[in-house]
Amino acid sequence: MVRLCKNCGFENQDDYDFCAKCGTPLVEGLKPAQVYVYQRQEMPELNRKAVILSYIVTIFLSWSGFIFGLIFKNTTFATFTFFGFFMPFYLVQSKHPSIKKHGIIQMVISLVGVALSFYIMFRK
Ligand SMILES: [Zn+2]
Repeated sequence: MVRLCKNCGFENQDDYDFCAKCGTPLVEGLKPAQVYVYQRQEMPELNRKAVILSYIVTIFLSWSGFIFGLIFKNTTFATFTFFGFFMPFYLVQSKHPSIKKHGIIQMVISLVGVALSFYIMFRK
């Protein structure tokens, strides 16, 4: 049993999903693009700008209560600091080990920020 290529007529082995000669899919519904995406998922590159941005967002959200409380004596931002947990909570669920690691680091940054914000809030 051989798989005949519809495009070039090449006789492929029956366990081939793509034509060995021209690359045309031999299985119905299988697109080369799907295989390309699958291969890319094995070793995804980390977007440095996205990682840096996630740190900025996390630090801004989780430390704003502390900074505003300290500089402007406005402690209403303290409850706002809980939003700092959203980004790390999202990141630690990633299957990518590096993203997971950044998530844990940001979780610690958020915990410190929230703790400081509430320290400022209840200091009086
Ligand atoms: Zn072919």
